[in-house]
Amino acid sequence: MQRHRQAKWDDAESEGHEPLLSEKDLTRYELQDTYLPDELTRESIKLPSLSEPEIARHYTRLSQMNYGVDSGPYPLGSCTMKYNPKFTEDIAALPSASVHLDRPSETAQGTLQIYYELQEYLGEIGGMSAVTLQPPAGAAGELTGILVAKAYHEYNGEAAQRNEIIVPSSAHGTNFASAAMAGYDIVELPADEDGRVDLDVLSAAVGESTAALMLTNPNTLGLFEREIEEIADLVHEAGGLLYYDGANLNALLGRARPGDMGFDIMHYNVHKTFATPHGGGGPGAGPIGVREGLDKFLPNPHVRKEEGEYVLTTPEESIGKVHGGMGNWLVLLKTHAYISRLGDSGLSDTSAKAVLNANYLASQLELDVPFEPFHHEFVASAGEKDAADFAKKMLDYGVHPPTTKWPDIVDEALMTEPTEAESKTTLDRLAEAFNAVLDQSDDAIEAAPNETTAKRIDQTQAARDPVLSWHQISD
Ligand SMILES: *Cc1c(COP(=O)(O)O)cnc(C)c1O
Repeated sequence: MQRHRQAKWDDAESEGHEPLLSEKDLTRYELQDTYLPDELTRESIKLPSLSEPEIARHYTRLSQMNYGVDSGPYPLGSCTMKYNPKFTEDIAALPSASVHLDRPSETAQGTLQIYYELQEYLGEIGGMSAVTLQPPAGAAGELTGILVAKAYHEYNGEAAQRNEIIVPSSAHGTNFASAAMAGYDIVELPADEDGRVDLDVLSAAVGESTAALMLTNPNTLGLFEREIEEIADLVHEAGGLLYYDGANLNALLGRARPGDMGFDIMHYNVHKTFATPHGGGGPGAGPIGVREGLDKFLPNPHVRKEEGEYVLTTPEESIGKVHGGMGNWLVLLKTHAYISRLGDSGLSDTSAKAVLNANYLASQLELDVPFEPFHHEFVASAGEKDAADFAKKMLDYGVHPPTTKWPDIVDEALMTEPTEAESKTTLDRLAEAFNAVLDQSDDAIEAAPNETTAKRIDQTQAARDPVLSWHQISD
């Protein structure tokens, strides 16, 4: 069994934590007069005065007190926390990658070519006819996609009547939030006993007020919706649109395309499927694709190729801008680099290994996995144990735990997605950690984690009295 001790840097001075830079040697600097009004400026400011080694050590220490995908496996189900290859960072760091947003398109043809090619790649991967790269995250992509659906219904004079969006009860919280933000009423769809969409329940839910059905496939249990074509027909016959939540695209990459299944609009979570880093708050990218006929509603501007030139165009019935510039360029550049490096065979290899790894890991666990056959992720049950405590104890074995307590169709859910990036040795270690927690007493898991730098936080206190920013107490 792997032993794990996270770095601790507690000398008397720092009282058990690495001090913030703003708590280290501060020097007061006088500021010069500016053109800004006096009430907006100060006369002096205190800043840390530190040498380069002190700063480098500060950040290195912080990274050692933390856990990331560069320190070990990170099997958060639905989040697809795959390893982010470093060559994409090298490409994003090239001097030629820094292009000003407002540069005229004649002088930024190379940049526009990358945008255009990425639109084409994503369109091909998803089976979509046109793609916009603007939305800054998956959730922002959902909102953009639902605004496109709304624009489509408005164009057809049906917007007032179609005021409902159907969302399966096991869907990600962002689906409900995006539909609500776009002004829709939400109809929640319970799963059938196999964990999938029940066609009879869906038939009863769709109708003249349906604007769209939002679905992910494979779903949050990792199960493929086998009746996806029937689902698409039901929604389309009722005049609604079918929206694909692309968070689970890693399971299908290079093998099956949402567009071919009948989806009309989809988003891509590039930080999941295409290994651009999960932003820790951003920046991210959540491009959306649409089927033929919906491209005229896409955000403005949209990159097209006309007579060999890349140009910025405004789609005829555009919903407008959803982000500054063309989206988060460096994230999109990393996506382009990742897709180009892997190519067709690399992408389809990804999905094969993601599914194989999830199935191998599950086969090594002494936990119940109620819904099968799953693809790139599975939901195990912690049984009699509390899933959140279970997860905290896993930290003591030097691995990151899975997503917990969601979807709630599985009791004490441990939603697990190892990703294609992990080796058999790593998967075996992960399985050992899961199984070791099963053997622990409730008292032991309630006291965990013991080996990490940060101990268990008081969640009630954190919710009721959150400390969200650091303020210097004395001058
Ligand atoms: C991650 C996720 C989202 C939201 O995507 P973000 O890029 O995190 O905004 C939506 N749906 C599912 C199923 C997800 O896993």
